[in-house]
Amino acid sequence: MSTDVLVYSEDPEIASEILTPALEFAHSGGGRVVLMSLGGHTDGAPSFAPGADAVLKVSLPGVTGEPTPEVTARILADVCRQRGIRFVFTGSTRDGKEVAGRLAFLLEAAVATDCISVKAVDGKVSIERMVFGGRAVSKGVLKATSCVVAIKPRSYAPPPSSGPSPTVEEVVVQPLTQKVRVVREGEVARGSVDLTKAEKIVAVGRGLKKKEDLDLVRQLADVLGASIGCSRPLSSDLGWLPEDAHIGLTGVQVKPKLYLAVGISGQLQHVAGIKESKCIVAINSDKSAPIFQNCDYGAVGDLYQVVPELIKQVKSRK
Ligand SMILES: Cc1cc2nc3c(=O)[nH]c(=O)nc-3n(C[C@H](O)[C@H](O)[C@H](O)COP(=O)(O)OP(=O)(O)OC[C@H]3O[C@@H](n4cnc5c(N)ncnc54)[C@H](O)[C@@H]3O)c2cc1C
Repeated sequence: MSTDVLVYSEDPEIASEILTPALEFAHSGGGRVVLMSLGGHTDGAPSFAPGADAVLKVSLPGVTGEPTPEVTARILADVCRQRGIRFVFTGSTRDGKEVAGRLAFLLEAAVATDCISVKAVDGKVSIERMVFGGRAVSKGVLKATSCVVAIKPRSYAPPPSSGPSPTVEEVVVQPLTQKVRVVREGEVARGSVDLTKAEKIVAVGRGLKKKEDLDLVRQLADVLGASIGCSRPLSSDLGWLPEDAHIGLTGVQVKPKLYLAVGISGQLQHVAGIKESKCIVAINSDKSAPIFQNCDYGAVGDLYQVVPELIKQVKSRK
């Protein structure tokens, strides 16, 4: 049976990363990697397709604007059926996971999300996934004939950009109607810095008593030359910082040289996003806070006393 793999992500960078395991998987059984591009690229292959054997250009009859995950899943299912493709790799992003689940339902396929590794073993899909908030890796084999695998961003580097250009193939899919109607679109409040690339981060949690006290944390970040992040309640519940400042399992995963956690308890879901940090420092008034089990240096104390003193000390050493 064919080991052709269909690759799709709404994010070109992630699509490019996914090509790496897709190529290894498909070529191990003599199959091809086809990358699906939903509109946009009129001439030749999109720039994010190095190494792909083919790019499928799909026009979207009956769809205006960005296709929803529901529509994307139906298009992917249509393409898989037309071409007899049994394996689909997507990005394990919010939209990618929704597409993966819906697609698996339509194809009656197995589905695995949050995968960090995928390869072919004896003609089956062998996967590794992060579990327990990233504290353990679960290994498994998907035994179904058709499989949808959602791969976590940054699990793979993209393939080298040299190599033959993929062929571009036009695909016609059945006319679609979107069941979900977009009633309003708005800008999501964003921080100015990409925390995934920050070298130093000062992150603040619910130990902070009021929004105005963020100034104190900002002063500390300024003297250290650090970016500001937070635990989920500060952005998602209180709205004191933008959504993309929230670090952890459901937020961004960071790997700075220095991570300074101020008034953060260190719950599993938060720690899952910081464990790649080189040096973790914690300030917390509760000596039994779990963050102290996960840091390199800790200060037990009131942040309203420790942070001003820290700012003073750092300034005096400059
Ligand atoms: C499905 C799911 C996903 C989640 N994903 C995430 C995620 O991605 N990221 C995330 O962060 N959370 C996530 N959470 C929430 C998570 O479980 C915790 O509730 C959250 O991380 C706690 O945030 P916190 O540490 O700021 O608050 P708290 O747990 O309330 O901790 C506040 C800490 O501040 C300390 N403190 C209080 N006053 C002071 C003071 N004056 N000086 C010093 N220390 C002080 C306290 O001792 C305490 O340890 C998720 C939860 C669920 C259910």
